[in-house]
Amino acid sequence: MGHSSSKSAESVCPTDIRHASSETEESRADKSDKLHVGHKSQMKRICRILQSKLQELSRSGGSRAELQECEDFARQMEALLDLQTSRGRGVSKEHALPQEVKEWLVNQWTEGSFRLGEELSPIRGTATLRATQSVPFNDELKDLLNLVGTPDVDVVAVQKQPEVAGNVITVLFVYTLSYGGVFDQLPVECLSDSSTGEIFQDRLVKFVSAIEGAYQDMPYHNNMHAADVAMMMHSFCLTSNMSWISPLDHLLSLITAVIHDVGHDGVNNMFHVKAQSPVALRYNDRSVLENMHCALAFELMKENEETNWLSLMNTSFAMDPKEKPTDLRQYLRRAAIEMVLATDPTKHNALMDDLKALIQAKSIQAEGGLSDAKQKQDAFNVLLHAADVSNATRKLPIALYWSRQVLLEFWAQGDHERSLGLEVSPLCDRASGMASVPQGQIGFIGFIVRPLYQQLGLLLPEILQAVEQLKKTEAYWQQKKEDNANFLESFAILDQ
Ligand SMILES: [Zn+2]
Repeated sequence: MGHSSSKSAESVCPTDIRHASSETEESRADKSDKLHVGHKSQMKRICRILQSKLQELSRSGGSRAELQECEDFARQMEALLDLQTSRGRGVSKEHALPQEVKEWLVNQWTEGSFRLGEELSPIRGTATLRATQSVPFNDELKDLLNLVGTPDVDVVAVQKQPEVAGNVITVLFVYTLSYGGVFDQLPVECLSDSSTGEIFQDRLVKFVSAIEGAYQDMPYHNNMHAADVAMMMHSFCLTSNMSWISPLDHLLSLITAVIHDVGHDGVNNMFHVKAQSPVALRYNDRSVLENMHCALAFELMKENEETNWLSLMNTSFAMDPKEKPTDLRQYLRRAAIEMVLATDPTKHNALMDDLKALIQAKSIQAEGGLSDAKQKQDAFNVLLHAADVSNATRKLPIALYWSRQVLLEFWAQGDHERSLGLEVSPLCDRASGMASVPQGQIGFIGFIVRPLYQQLGLLLPEILQAVEQLKKTEAYWQQKKEDNANFLESFAILDQ
């Protein structure tokens, strides 16, 4: 990943975990706090859980004990936030929260919502993650990484950072696992007896790195798109109505986003079917690319034992001895296949129906979240699809960047079709496309993105912010339509 080996205290991100060899008095105090400044997203998540608990209680008129519990929790959160602020002013470690309070915060309020038993010990950081944590990030990269967990992460800017060395998926994946609290919450019982957290993390990172290497250098369907979708998935997983998500499902969501377009060759399913390409023949014209992405991901994993993290999963996992054990290898593989296959654009309407059924069932807001396996799978399918088409819901420069890239890829396909004597696919004609960029964008937003995000907002209220942003993107394109803007005029702000 092109990491520098510099280990001076100043060169290491001050808001994250210090490397053991560069420990100072302050860094030791920091490390003793489970929740420190680097766990901002974790704290935000806890705040959201608290908010939803309080809302629930105010609706149901909860018991005195429950209210007391919330009050105590709020006090602890306040103390923790005070501590964060005071540490910056050089307050000594005596002011740190007692260990048991920290453990209570993490175990009770995060594991509780993840439905993990208290007796389970989480897998701790390992060599691989520590190595990444010791990367001497520059200030710009630190600022960019601070946005992980929000829809404002700019993966293109992250990719450009010298420390990232073009490995945007791997860097963001490891960062999210380390600081998003995903890995810290994963119970060791998820792994088979013969495995350790260290080997698991090592293989997982090597797998993600191999996947990153298998993305082709396409205008749109490249490693940055996969990283972008993974970051959107992560932000969805952090919404209040998703607080029931288990760390394993959170990890699954990230991995699936990472693999969902691997090996994409820059042309769509329609092209493959028309051209009777080898991959169309192999998959009988059905969800050709999506089948290929998924198969390729598992082939890469099986090719090299050092990337085979799935073989380390427990085949007889049960949270509760009374429960029927689950084969996690089967569970994860099946769920990942379902999700990737559901990213076939032709599944959009079916996913909209699933989304409406989820909204009607109201079970996502219920105590414990989605427990029905089909509903849960439907929800993850919908979320990955939404993350995949999220471009227009993002801040304008990010939205415009991706719009331009997807058009460049479409038009390259059109050129290729013409050169092969094939009929040019819809939206793929360069000449007519260049003259009608705003209309195309307005159509895509109006028919696909807006209906999807409006419905999704009924399931996850935080998504309504994306709907607001979408209105701005739509207004931008309406203006460009009125101005009769061509391709260059439409994207001029990207070159400023
Ligand atoms: Zn995609």
